[in-house]
Amino acid sequence: MTSIQLAQDYLNGTSLDLPNGHFIDGRFVSGNGQQMESFDPGLGSAFATFAIGGADEIDAALTSSRKAFEMWRRVKPSERTAILLKCATALRANADRLAVIETVDSGKTLSEAMGDVQGSARLFEYYAGAADKLDGRSVNLGPDYTAFTRREPVGVTAHIIPWNYPTSTFARGVAPALAAGCTVVAKPAETTPFTALVMAQILTEAGVPEGVINVVTGLGRDAGDALVRDPRVNHITFTGSVGTGIAVTQAAAPNITRLTLELGGKSPLVAFADADLEAVAANAASAIFSNAGQICSAGSRLIIERSMRDDLMDLLREKAAAVTYGHGLRDLNMGAINSDLHLGRIVSHVDAAKARGCNIIAGGAVTHDPETGKGWFFEPTVIADLAADDPAVQQEIFGPVLSVQLFDTEDQAIQLANGTDFGLMASVFTRDVGRALRMAQEIDSGQVTVNDYWAGGVELPFGGNHKSGYGREKGIEGLDAYTTSKAVTIKNS
Ligand code: NAD
Repeated sequence: MTSIQLAQDYLNGTSLDLPNGHFIDGRFVSGNGQQMESFDPGLGSAFATFAIGGADEIDAALTSSRKAFEMWRRVKPSERTAILLKCATALRANADRLAVIETVDSGKTLSEAMGDVQGSARLFEYYAGAADKLDGRSVNLGPDYTAFTRREPVGVTAHIIPWNYPTSTFARGVAPALAAGCTVVAKPAETTPFTALVMAQILTEAGVPEGVINVVTGLGRDAGDALVRDPRVNHITFTGSVGTGIAVTQAAAPNITRLTLELGGKSPLVAFADADLEAVAANAASAIFSNAGQICSAGSRLIIERSMRDDLMDLLREKAAAVTYGHGLRDLNMGAINSDLHLGRIVSHVDAAKARGCNIIAGGAVTHDPETGKGWFFEPTVIADLAADDPAVQQEIFGPVLSVQLFDTEDQAIQLANGTDFGLMASVFTRDVGRALRMAQEIDSGQVTVNDYWAGGVELPFGGNHKSGYGREKGIEGLDAYTTSKAVTIKNS
């Protein structure tokens, strides 16, 4: 069935065919039998239940993963390549179903969810190509020794998945882990448990051996905490908030477990007056309203040369007003906020800005799907003329809320761009190549794009500096977390 047919069936009351157990050792198990409701943010009501695991389910998953590691690390790299290619094909074959599940579970639009699924397939394809190229190097110690390095898998890897990109964050960690010869225990977020479970089943049916991918659903403070604390875990890939990132780091410390941290951001889009004004406005709107602003790398700060202010604010007001929104399956411009808890956080940020007398030139309020009057939505919002220390500039709001700051000189622009605790992403808009290169050099972040906010792909490394975290995912660098180097030295005589 196509995604359109599946979407129509769901909106007409047909329930989605969803697993409600954990995926351990290649099959669904009910575990302790505890269940929790999952909500459709586009409607604001529960649509399914899922299993709530704890320490026992994590123990079973880790036992399975450790056993599978002893087999998977010995599988010939070219066989791992073949299996990962089959995974990419299987994800594409199941793209319609996965995209509909992701839309209903997360609140995002169907097009966004389909993009995430296709991107996930591409991650498996990309890392399939890397699995048989993880070579070491020969080291010259002189005539008496032969020395070389081996690039070996780190072991069992834990993946703590957030709710804003459940499908692609799962694939972003699992694909390179599998390519490297590692096994996986994943814990999806409590508001988006389903796509990781369904993907684990699809990937196992495509040829990933039983036990290589395990998924335990449940609460962060129970299942998540039990997973990251366990000494059988050799690497943790965590994506989520700074606060939880700190808690995970502390839990991992006694075992000296390796970590990749993908935390928040407050990423700037810096525009100079020589840039194409329409392109700046279109990119600024896309950078903050895509996925309803629930993106770690969202362009949540627009930093513009003072002379552009009035024309650009007019354009942005128009763009914000033109954004259509509604249930993700109706596939308009913008979907829902993932949970009423998170909607409340966005409201408290914007209400505080209102109380401070900030200049809100667009949006600023909770809204609903105009067709049904239901769901958790927030208006596309622009707050103009903010000082560098305003909380709306400094704090991650993680919603469709853009803050605007003005500058007069290039030095000021750099200072403002680097003026938060974060360092994930940045974009520069200018026609001056020299200035673009200077800005790319001076901005302190994991990635900088020029004249196109979202320029990138699975081939490019992604990650942050400072409180945005450390380590890199995607690209060839994405394999570093899952491999370790062993030096072997042989005396020749
Ligand atoms: P969170 O950081 O609490 O949740 C992320 C994941 O961590 C979930 O799977 C959760 O179950 C798990 N988790 C929670 N506590 C844990 C623990 N003690 N040990 C192990 N795992 C644990 O995120 P949240 O509270 O749902 O969202 C709050 C804020 O996080 C947002 O406002 C946003 O700023 C940020 N966020 C960032 C990203 C990102 O991509 N960087 C994604 C989601 C949320």
